[in-house]
Amino acid sequence: MSLLVVGSVAFDAVETPFGKRERMLGGSATHFGLSASFFTDVRVVGVVGGDFGEEEMSVFGERGIDTDDLERVEGGKTFFWSGRYDFDLNTAHTLDTQLNVFADFKPKLSDESRRARMVFLGNIQPDLQREVREQVRGAELVALDTMNYWITSVPDAVREAISAVDVVIINDAEARQLTGEPNLIKAARKILSWGPRALVVKRGEYGAAMFTAESYFAIPAYPLEAVFDPTGAGDTFAGGFMGYLASRDPIDDDTLRRAIIFGSVMASFNVEEFGTERVRRLTHEEINRRFRDFKRMTHFEEIPFERAASGKSGV
Ligand code: AMP
Repeated sequence: MSLLVVGSVAFDAVETPFGKRERMLGGSATHFGLSASFFTDVRVVGVVGGDFGEEEMSVFGERGIDTDDLERVEGGKTFFWSGRYDFDLNTAHTLDTQLNVFADFKPKLSDESRRARMVFLGNIQPDLQREVREQVRGAELVALDTMNYWITSVPDAVREAISAVDVVIINDAEARQLTGEPNLIKAARKILSWGPRALVVKRGEYGAAMFTAESYFAIPAYPLEAVFDPTGAGDTFAGGFMGYLASRDPIDDDTLRRAIIFGSVMASFNVEEFGTERVRRLTHEEINRRFRDFKRMTHFEEIPFERAASGKSGV
């Protein structure tokens, strides 16, 4: 098994300026898993309640996602998140977070899950992320995501979890909040100094950037005229990024750069409709077409500039 994800599996209530959904399938592990499943085999570790039905489970099944380690608490309720986006779709305003079955969740990994080549510690309580990290000692690459909810409530636990992984994937506001540093470049240096080899910063409609000790890479977001619901864009990005990495060997800087593009491609589809609706019916052809669009969008030729002779020195 090549890619393992631990994270929330949820019911979301979401309102954007373009519509709303009272109760739809969501969660960090859900969005991540669906996205990554276009690139590699995925296993989900998480917990749901008795209210999580056949219909929701079939979304994982249709994409061939392994749910053997998705625990079910019959008497419990599935994690619930409710959020609202204003006209600035870059910021999610959390209205309600009900941990429910996640409050007592102790992730137990099967032997097969422990052998995963790569692991994504999706957005959940950071101590749980560390517990899973400790159970996958042999993984080649472990990445982590988090959010303002945890940075505000348990900042030290978030920092500890970060120091135990190879790659951190967060958004720009979270990088600033986490480090108390308004300058993003300085914030990135600080996060890298805690241990990870790479930091990927998601910047919503402005794209994404990757920082390592010796390199910097940034791309714009795919230019979309219709954005309906950004919920899950971050996890869908991470799913494309990690899914692509898990399908490659070895992982060098070029591979990481292509992974950023695939992450952005997947996120661009996610925001076109509510929740998981668009990604569920995506095709490989659509993914590859947008990947090529990104290449065209960001390509330019290197021609050294020389000022045309005008008789003056130009200085
Ligand atoms: P994002 O990709 O950042 O938009 O994450 C969206 C998903 O995160 C939603 O589907 C929510 O169910 C989930 N979520 C929201 N808050 C939390 C939280 N505190 N812990 C875990 N998952 C969360």
